[in-house]
Amino acid sequence: MVVTIMKIILMQLPLQGSDFFYSNENIPLATACLKAITVGQGKDVVLLPQHLMSYGSDQAILGFLLDVKPDAVGLSCYLWNLERSIFLAKQIHRELPTCTVVLGGPEITPHNEFLLSHGEFDVGVVGQGEYTWDILLSSFPHIPDMPGLLKRGERGQWHFTGMNENEPSASNLPSPYLLGCLDSHLNKILWLETVRGCVHQCAYCHYHKQFKKLKPFSLDRIEAEVRRAVKKGIEEIVFLDPCFAGRPGFEKLLDLLSKVNGERNLSFHAELNAEDIDPVRAEKMGKIGFTQVEVGLQSINRETLKLIHRRFRPRRFLQGVRSLQDQGIEVMVDLIAGLPGDRLADIRKSMDWVLKHDAFDTLMLYPLSLLASTELHQHASDLELSALPYPPYLVTRTRDLSAPEMCEAFRYYERCMEDDVAPIEMPFALDPRASPDRRFHELITKIHWQGREDVQPLSRLWNQTAYALTVTFSQEVLRQPSLWIANLREYLEHNPFSLLSIEVPAEAFPEDLAPLWKLARGHSHFADRDYTVPHTPYRSFLVFSRAQGLIWKWPDPRESCSLKLPDGQKVPSHPVCCVATTGETIPEWFTNHMSKRYASLPEMRLWQPPEDNSPVLNS
Ligand code: SF4
Repeated sequence: MVVTIMKIILMQLPLQGSDFFYSNENIPLATACLKAITVGQGKDVVLLPQHLMSYGSDQAILGFLLDVKPDAVGLSCYLWNLERSIFLAKQIHRELPTCTVVLGGPEITPHNEFLLSHGEFDVGVVGQGEYTWDILLSSFPHIPDMPGLLKRGERGQWHFTGMNENEPSASNLPSPYLLGCLDSHLNKILWLETVRGCVHQCAYCHYHKQFKKLKPFSLDRIEAEVRRAVKKGIEEIVFLDPCFAGRPGFEKLLDLLSKVNGERNLSFHAELNAEDIDPVRAEKMGKIGFTQVEVGLQSINRETLKLIHRRFRPRRFLQGVRSLQDQGIEVMVDLIAGLPGDRLADIRKSMDWVLKHDAFDTLMLYPLSLLASTELHQHASDLELSALPYPPYLVTRTRDLSAPEMCEAFRYYERCMEDDVAPIEMPFALDPRASPDRRFHELITKIHWQGREDVQPLSRLWNQTAYALTVTFSQEVLRQPSLWIANLREYLEHNPFSLLSIEVPAEAFPEDLAPLWKLARGHSHFADRDYTVPHTPYRSFLVFSRAQGLIWKWPDPRESCSLKLPDGQKVPSHPVCCVATTGETIPEWFTNHMSKRYASLPEMRLWQPPEDNSPVLNS
């Protein structure tokens, strides 16, 4: 008798960036938890190979799936990958009609209208996944009647089968790390949960709603995980617990980490409330190997804090931050713009307070996302909140703040910090800091079109391309758009979740770039949605040049017009030329060079691209 083993492929697509920075941190922990629950059940559950999952183009991923022909594909959906996951689900349905597509992750909730109106998937897993996934696989291909699922009704409408009340305790969940389920997707960093659930109930979050109470993992399990990490040469552990210091048995956990990391082979990172830290705890953390913590302050406005159910005790906050800094632990403080109750002046006040007290090593300001199933989402109309109707659901208006004021908050941040709040990434192919040995398992990151004979159909290559692709044009090719325009358009149609950068000769003129910008206007991508970025919201299609040690991003003509938001508000914008240089200022020759090209010079902005973190793929 021939026994057919089910083939299941799991994936978590990365937050995309032209420099692959976040791809290098795309650790598919949730999918590894699903794999772990099926170990020993005779099912062939594998994670999509790391180079494809984290770096591959849409067609590179699809090409792999078409070769393997899985029975089921599971995608873990977050804010940044939902649309791409839905796109892939649709393609899988078209090409592999018998393959079941299962979506899970924080974006899968019965209140996510974007998901329900766009989702061409078979079933959604709502909340913690392992238990539901286990039963789903046991009854495959039949979709069981059980809570915790988003299923299609007879007329095709989605319905939610209700919250799962019988979820297993943490002690019954296998460790994906101890079972080796993550090994193929790890490099030097490990993400670890020591607890599930959260003691807080922030109104803009729905993580806490999935758990009636905290579910800590046992100290024995954590000890075994950390010991294995030391043995495997992991350098850094990031604890994912939302309030690390609020974990039951926190002191015991610190003692355990001190015992296991006695030689300081590992550095630790965590998110916590500064108020939970006193000098004794901070000293212990410093000795154990904590090097960085992230602290969510969000706002210091009492009315706002009340609305979002957060507390703030200034003296204890400052004491916590100082105690950590005294131990050499870097403190990253987060604020949110767009919270209900905060006017522009309040956001400024929150920033001023942190700056005045020097209570940070890194200060970040993030725009609020109005996430489905959160308390703010449920009360959005009472609170007069409006947001983008698609990911990342950025708030565009509150009772106290308009979109232009939101943008002004980010400009204020830049003035205070003398820093770019959201620097554009340096495409890998142009980055002089990128290691020449850096490889992506043969994925193509750059293409040179120097002569007309080089301009070959990209469809021949797209099974091998990375999602961030740079095409270098000669002046001869640039000036013959009929050679390449249809080719690039076809590429973007088949790989809509691409970040394309075009390098043109420094001698080019804005009119030479017009066909490229026309193409850019037809390309809509998640990376183009952040209307709060002061220099440009358009980041998925970039045009660069290089000369005399400078690299610059040409201003996108769309920056010359106000950006119209879906709720009708207009956000003022202006053209910006970002210039990366090793010097302190933009050289005069470059200003002269650009003044020959623009009647009115765009803003010239010194550009410091984010640090390259030199990933190394597992071989
Ligand atoms: S935002 Fe963080 S602290 Fe607040 S409820 Fe969610 S997980 Fe907990």
